[in-house]
Amino acid sequence: MTSEAFAMAQALRGQAIEWRRDFHRHPELLFDVDRTATRVAELLRDFGCDEVVTGIGRSGVVAVIRGRTAPASRTIGIRADMDALPILEATGLSYASAVSGRMHACGHDGHMAILLGAVNRLAKTRAFTGTLVAIFQPAEEGGGGAKVMAEDGLFERFGIEEVYALHNMPAMDIGTFAISEGVMLAAADRFDIKILGKGGHAAQPHETIDPIVVANHVVGALQTIVSRSVNPTDPVVLSVTSIHAGEAYNVIPPEVVLKGTARAFSDTNRDIVESRMRAIATSIAHAFGAEAEFDYRRGYPPTVNHPAQARILAAAAAHVAGDTAVRRDLAPLMLAEDFSYMLRARPGAFIFMGNGTTAPLHHPEYDFNDDALPHGISLWIDLVTRASK
Ligand SMILES: [Zn+2]
Ligand SMILES: [Zn+2]
Repeated sequence: MTSEAFAMAQALRGQAIEWRRDFHRHPELLFDVDRTATRVAELLRDFGCDEVVTGIGRSGVVAVIRGRTAPASRTIGIRADMDALPILEATGLSYASAVSGRMHACGHDGHMAILLGAVNRLAKTRAFTGTLVAIFQPAEEGGGGAKVMAEDGLFERFGIEEVYALHNMPAMDIGTFAISEGVMLAAADRFDIKILGKGGHAAQPHETIDPIVVANHVVGALQTIVSRSVNPTDPVVLSVTSIHAGEAYNVIPPEVVLKGTARAFSDTNRDIVESRMRAIATSIAHAFGAEAEFDYRRGYPPTVNHPAQARILAAAAAHVAGDTAVRRDLAPLMLAEDFSYMLRARPGAFIFMGNGTTAPLHHPEYDFNDDALPHGISLWIDLVTRASK
């Protein structure tokens, strides 16, 4: 807690709280982050960044801060997400959302304030070698804003060689960090299965092909993918979360629609899950004389840290928070993050930062913990000095 970076970050705490609570009061969704992006760009210009570019990946904002040049100096990107969630806030805070049904329930308000704090400081001191590219990204919560920014040439245009991000984590102590040198988060895919049978009178089942019976077999057999088809050391979740069919007591409906999510830590397992699901759904349907339509849509890929960059980020965390405050062997979580797309474009790493005893992420009573701000700011200041060398 005595590092120089942490002392600098403490001095920025008051301002960072102000920025954070202003974002919190004005939550915006997906790519429609006009107010937030405008405010971010305005602050970045005030800080004296060398370049501030808006409209990258529709509504993303990018700032370039050049440090001292040295023969081996590098350009590193740090990403903060800007969007909120369609949740009705129930915190009762003085700075609670001013927009009913929208709220910063994932702490992206805090992530922005942290990156702004670090940029503010580094733009002033320039006490680092190389170049920092601060990336403010829209649409993390379902829109794949990271992918859209990457497709818009983010990495090439700004010459980004490595990329980093953090996410707050409730129930983890303030001032602690958790990371691993490999998989951090899962891929999140979605599926729809339509079982097409033949409806009819419930008293004459022999005249029908009952899709409800077929669907029951399909749901049961899908469970064998997790237990029999994937390697047990590389876990998968497959949840059927919705079944819709029928209206009446005495009518067999013509079709059943199933929906759900599949989560995996590797592309290998995503391939296995998709192909086994297709085989099970169509073959079981055929066995009963029905048909199955199967649609599998890939969402965010797994978030996988690159070992060298994870070690640099862990070293920065250990330097600002103390060695015992950094867990380096975090087991992967079944959550998903679109920063995964950035980690596919460039080497980099993602780290969790403690948010203390707050409500969980995406909960109506969640709030980013302002006490975490200096820890995040000092992490980025330390990382930039370390990684850009
Ligand atoms: Zn979220
Ligand atoms: Zn989030």
